[in-house]
Order: sequence, then structure tokens, then C-alpha cells
Amino acid sequence: SFHEIETAMIERNQRCVPIIKGEKVVGVITRTDLIRTLHDDVFKTARTRTLQRDEAETGGPHRNVAGLLRSRLPHRLMTVLEEAGRLADRCEMALFVVGGCVRDLLMGIQNLDLDVVVEGDGIAFARKLGDLLRARVKVHERFGTAIVLLPDGFKLDVATARTEYYEYPTALPTVEQSSVKKDLYRRDFTINALAVRLNGKGFGEVLDFYGGQRDLNDKVIRVLHGLSFVEDPTRVFRAIRFETRFGFHLGKDTTALIAGAVKMKLFHRLSGHRLLEELKLLFSEREPRQSIKRMAELGLLRFIHPKLSWSDRLERILNAVDEAVDWYRLLYLDRKIDVWLVYLMGLLEVLPEHAVKDTLKRFPFSEQQAMRLKMARVGSHNAIRRLGSKRPITPAEIYRLLSGLSDETLLILMAKNKGDTVKRHVSAFLTTYQQVKPILSGTDLKAMGLKPGPKFKQILEQLLDARMNGAVVTESDERDLVLKLTEGKTSD
Ligand code: ATP
Repeated sequence: SFHEIETAMIERNQRCVPIIKGEKVVGVITRTDLIRTLHDDVFKTARTRTLQRDEAETGGPHRNVAGLLRSRLPHRLMTVLEEAGRLADRCEMALFVVGGCVRDLLMGIQNLDLDVVVEGDGIAFARKLGDLLRARVKVHERFGTAIVLLPDGFKLDVATARTEYYEYPTALPTVEQSSVKKDLYRRDFTINALAVRLNGKGFGEVLDFYGGQRDLNDKVIRVLHGLSFVEDPTRVFRAIRFETRFGFHLGKDTTALIAGAVKMKLFHRLSGHRLLEELKLLFSEREPRQSIKRMAELGLLRFIHPKLSWSDRLERILNAVDEAVDWYRLLYLDRKIDVWLVYLMGLLEVLPEHAVKDTLKRFPFSEQQAMRLKMARVGSHNAIRRLGSKRPITPAEIYRLLSGLSDETLLILMAKNKGDTVKRHVSAFLTTYQQVKPILSGTDLKAMGLKPGPKFKQILEQLLDARMNGAVVTESDERDLVLKLTEGKTSD
């Protein structure tokens, strides 16, 4: 039966099932065959029952959220959706808004990233909509998608309804035109597989084929079918992301399927690039520590590195990273940091050095990110030793030790040093020393007769040191210092 073949493939990690007649192999069923059959079959049979139950539980098939859309979306965006709906009517195409924005709409969360799906040629539709709204249209022929960029900054992602099937697991999908029902079936979780009709007649009608509204009510993350993680293992990380973000929990079957994916080591087949992208997203959410703990519970940390596992030490470090990041956010500095990188630094902290090297090789970090990760782990030993020592230290010396380090690295330094001394120095550096500037600028020095060159640079640095250490206060103190440093020979 279908079920037997599916089980064989999942449990035994079998890529294909040979069909044997007598002693001869007469055919073969591949995972792609299975996925395609599943996609085609499932609409007619198993889901009908679920669907009927869902309709009873969620107010029937004709729930209309036009009013909700109107109250949640900015007026301009609402007008765009209505115009798009009317255009779709004229083109005799069905048009829906789908995915994360429908989920968030029903949950009462603001989300202006609108994704729409067209039953028909999405690109042609996007071009017409662009003309109508005088918007720019960016087309991705290969994926059958386009982005309509409205002059006032809003945008609409337009896709062609599709049955995406995968040539082989973890590859990019191949796209075929199809209906919205199939399009929704290829999505990750039931809560992300909801659609709202935009056509004039029926504007606002919710399409819920797979129990998404019920799962929103029950706060459950559920995949749509048994091969979902085989199709795309990154969904496991997406599941944790939504679980943590919304305070939902994984459905029982979905948890079991994740255990299966872990057993099959599906994640080894993911490219470093795709895994890193998911980790970035996961660690950029509000509570990365909780997601990392969840990854540990589900046996996923080993796919970052086989030696990575949960421990009291890791928990302590991640707690301290939480504190450091929260503290940093309250500084309201005018620059952004890569929070995900700080959490990754936290993870690398508990790995032996060779494993850190492996990790740096496995994932395609940018040169700058790799440098920051290395500095966090090994490059800052000297700075730490000096900052943590009992010998008195001047603000200028602290500045020299820390000024080459990124904010991410500084935060992990704060997090991984238990004593207060290092924390206090890093904090003073970020909040005070970094902002200090001498009153005299390079132009002033030139006006005093100094010529740019190594000595010139040295004098500027010494001025800065003196100001940080409180050795100069007024401008005339600074001028005196410059004169002293040049020993009166200002044209030197
Ligand atoms: P977020 O709020 O984090 O942006 P989102 O659900 O909008 O969440 P996107 O990554 O923008 O997430 O994806 C948009 C939609 O595309 C999802 O709601 C889901 O329906 C679908 N999707 C995204 N990634 C996958 C995937 N790996 N497998 C299946 N469907 C996916």
C-alpha cells in the first residue's frame, strides 16, 4: 500500500523501492513519485473528513474576513487588494492572498508582507496590475513570481498557483501551473496554508482546506503530510521558529515526523547555505535561547556540529547572552547588530577549537562574520586577560583594547566573563569611551602648523587618550598638550 511504501522510505531511509516481477526489476518508485502521488491523491480522500470537521469548528466554509482586512490593513493597501481583485475578475483568473499574512491577520498580528497567488499566469497578471497602479514590477521568470512595487513603498508578492514538486529531496523545486488548493498543499504548516479570496464576488472568503483555522485556535504547528520534512528539512527549523514566536506547540504526528527526519539525518543533505539561512532567521527572533533549547530537545543541535549538545554551561552562556543583548538594546545606539551572530558565538563557545574550525568551514559566513566569530572565540584572549586583571587600567587603555572589536564580539565578551570587571569595562567602552572626541580636530592641528603624517596621527591619538583619561579638559589644555608633544616645533 501507499502507506507501506511511505513507511519504508521514511524509516529505512530508502531512496527508492524497486518493483520486482519474478526475478526481474520491472520498475522503481522514487521519493518524487511518492510525493507527487500524495499531492494528487490526498485532495480526494483522507482530507475530506478533516475538512468537514474543520468547517463545523471554524464557522463553516464561508467565513468572510473582508471586514477584518479593512480594519487591519492601511487604507491604501486595502484599495490595492480590491483593485487587484477586480482586475482578476476582468482577466477571468482566481486571485487569493495566502500564507503568513493570512495567518497573522487571523491572529490579530500586523503583517504588511502581502503574498498573493493567481490561478493562471502570475507574471502576466503582475504586469497588468503594475500598469494599472503605475507600479514597478520585478519578474522572476524561473519561479513564475513577480513583485509589484507601489510608488508609496508598499509591495505585493505575486505568484502563480503551483504544485511544487522536488526532483529529489533538498533540491530547488520544479514549478507547474496549478490550482490554489494544490498550491496550499505544498506549504509547510496548516497555519500557513490558509487563503483569502480577492475576486470581486466572494472578496474576503477564507479558504481552509487543511484545518489551518482549527490549528490556530488550538495553537498547534502541524505539517500537511508525512513526507513534508523529506521534501524540505528546513521546515523543521521553521516549525521551531513559529512554535517559539507564537507560543504554539508541535502536533503529535509532526513531532514524530521530526524524530524520523533526525533519525534519517536529513539535515546532512542540506547545504550549509540553506541551514545557515534558517539559523539566522531562528536566532533573529525574540527568544533564541528557547529555540536553541527546543533544537536540543529534538536532537537537532548535532546538525550544526556533531559535538554540539545542551549542557548547563551552554545554558549559562545563553542566559548571559540574553542579558547582554537586552542591555545592548536599551542603549538605543544608532547602529544595528546581528543578534543571531551573538547566539552563534554562544554556541561555538562550548565547542572544542577544531569543531569551531569545522563549523566555520561548513557554513558560508561572510569574511567579516567569520572574523567576528574567530575574534569572539580566540582572538580576544589578550584583551580579556588584561581587562580582567587586578592591575589598574586607564580608560584609554580599555579603548585601545576594545576599539577593533565588533559590537557582537563585545557582547559575547560580556556574556562569557562571569566577573563584573570585564562587564564594567566593556559597558563603559560602549556607553562612554567610544563617544569621546578631542575638541581639536585634524584641521585645527593643520592650522597650528602641523603637517599630516605618522607623527600627526600619533598626536591625534595622544589627544584622544588624554581626553579619555581626563588629563585635558578645555581646548587650551589640548593646545598646550599639542605644543608639548611637538616640543614647540609646530612645523615639524
Ligand atoms: P514570517 O512572518 O517569518 O515572514 P511567513 O510565514 O510569512 O513568516 P515566509 O518565509 O515569508 O514566512 O513564507 C511565506 C509563506 O510561504 C509561508 O507562510 C508558507 O506558506 C510558505 N513557505 C515558506 N517557506 C516554506 C517552506 N520551506 N516549505 C513550504 N512552504 C513554505
